[in-house]
Amino acid sequence: MAFHFSLLGIARLIPAVTAAAALAPEQRSNKPLDLCRLVGAHFPGKVWFANSSEYVDSQESYYTLQERELNPSCVFRPALTADVSAFVKLVAANDRYPKNLPKPLFAVRSGGHTLWSGAANVDGGITVDMRGMNSFKLSADKKTASIGGGSNFIDVYPQLVPHNLTILGARMPGVAAGGFLTGGGKNFLARKYGFACDNIFGYEVVLASGKVVYASASQNRDLWLALKGGSNNFGIITRFDVATHPLLGMWGGIVGFEYTPDTLSVHAQAFSDWMRPENVDELSDVAIILGFVNGSFFIEDSLFYSAPVVSPPVFAEFTKLPGVTAQSLELRSVAELVIFMGSILPATIPRSFELVYAFHNPDAATYLALFQTWQAGIQQVQGVQGLQIQYLVQPMPVTNGTNSLGLPPHQPDITMVVLTAAWDNTVDDDTVTKGLQAIVTRHEAILDANKLNIGYKYLNYADVTQNPISTYGAANVARLRAVSRKYDPTGLFQTRVPGYKLPKK
Ligand SMILES: Cc1cc2nc3c(=O)[nH]c(=O)nc-3n(C[C@H](O)[C@H](O)[C@H](O)COP(=O)(O)OP(=O)(O)OC[C@H]3O[C@@H](n4cnc5c(N)ncnc54)[C@H](O)[C@@H]3O)c2cc1C
Repeated sequence: MAFHFSLLGIARLIPAVTAAAALAPEQRSNKPLDLCRLVGAHFPGKVWFANSSEYVDSQESYYTLQERELNPSCVFRPALTADVSAFVKLVAANDRYPKNLPKPLFAVRSGGHTLWSGAANVDGGITVDMRGMNSFKLSADKKTASIGGGSNFIDVYPQLVPHNLTILGARMPGVAAGGFLTGGGKNFLARKYGFACDNIFGYEVVLASGKVVYASASQNRDLWLALKGGSNNFGIITRFDVATHPLLGMWGGIVGFEYTPDTLSVHAQAFSDWMRPENVDELSDVAIILGFVNGSFFIEDSLFYSAPVVSPPVFAEFTKLPGVTAQSLELRSVAELVIFMGSILPATIPRSFELVYAFHNPDAATYLALFQTWQAGIQQVQGVQGLQIQYLVQPMPVTNGTNSLGLPPHQPDITMVVLTAAWDNTVDDDTVTKGLQAIVTRHEAILDANKLNIGYKYLNYADVTQNPISTYGAANVARLRAVSRKYDPTGLFQTRVPGYKLPKK
């Protein structure tokens, strides 16, 4: 495995926190500490305020309006691991803050593609924008790619295509390593290699003390496992060392169909069949998308094959379905495919809400019951201005189990559903949220009645109210809490950094 530089080298690069800064005047006068001013003095040219284009660029690049409308006091844009380490030392020093006042929060963001308000941005605190940490290095044996903690996959794929290699990353532009890899990572090759996080050899992490450590199977193994699904609860990740995999090209795209009762029925059958263990082709990936936009329903399939094979036999049941209205199935490189996927979806959306759940692959009749219940549930929300709803049915990655997610390993027949809505106005937040919750409650009742619901909520698609880490199982939650106590004894990442937190006891 390749390392860019030794950890000792990194430690020497960290600027010393000066004695003058350690005693801020605000602390002596017991007034709130102007943390942005303090951090700005330490990192000239890296701390940005609301009147700067760098601040505006950070704000505008969040995927949803709920994240864009939060206003951090300043945005810190680190370029080096040493910057992140020195920053954490500055903000963590408890003696800096008046005892009677709450300590300021700092959010960590990479691609900013989590939907809910406060996942990776913060009102009145500091947002650490990791997007400048986007280094790329391929090891001499080409088995490991080292990518910066804020890398965007759309920038990484093209660097691997000339080597006929890929890493396991996101399928849409904009999604970045920091959030995607710490939550799991559903990718094009997830039926063969599992979650992207199952394929991470090592993490360079800045802990709550500001110390930079490396976590791998042989060093800090407990932290290595915790970071595979543990989100931002243990530190700020400044580099991921990930496995590369051979990839000569991709075939696939999107197929649209007339939305009729028959189309729903044949899709229910095709998906249930494709998910069955005896039909697995590890290079194939399918999603069915039921949608409601501009007052009309639609149905689309995404079909992806991770080899340059036109119309592979595993998709036969899908490619022969009647009622096709449009299709974009082509041979492309993975980089081209992700750009294409970005061309059919907006780069940012207005208000948004999403819920996730997972279950054992049922028969076609159960899928059809879920589809029909979804359609009926749309009636509750269909009058909402600007409403777009997407019900996405796709396979859960076939994990190899080296993570903290608590899913059974090597099971190809677990389905994951994501129900997402976007709409225009705050006044409709309650209606949409309750409408989606009602659909999911009905769906989970159907699945519970058939003993199919597995209860697991995939963090990268979960709303914060679903408390995804609590679904990893009691033993994993206990291990994650122990790792937090060991590497973050003051609970900095539990109390001062928003996100999907470890469940409270
Ligand atoms: C259009 C779209 C397509 C998507 N496609 C997929 C897909 O194909 N597969 C899939 O699995 N998911 C997908 N997702 C979900 C996506 O993986 C999650 O939203 C993920 O968190 C986004 O990563 P990000 O870096 O943009 O996250 P951010 O919103 O920036 O951050 C998410 C969380 O990670 C933390 N974080 C970010 N960087 C770091 C870091 N360096 N160190 C520590 N913590 C950090 C943040 O504090 C935050 O709590 C998609 C989402 C969207 C909106």
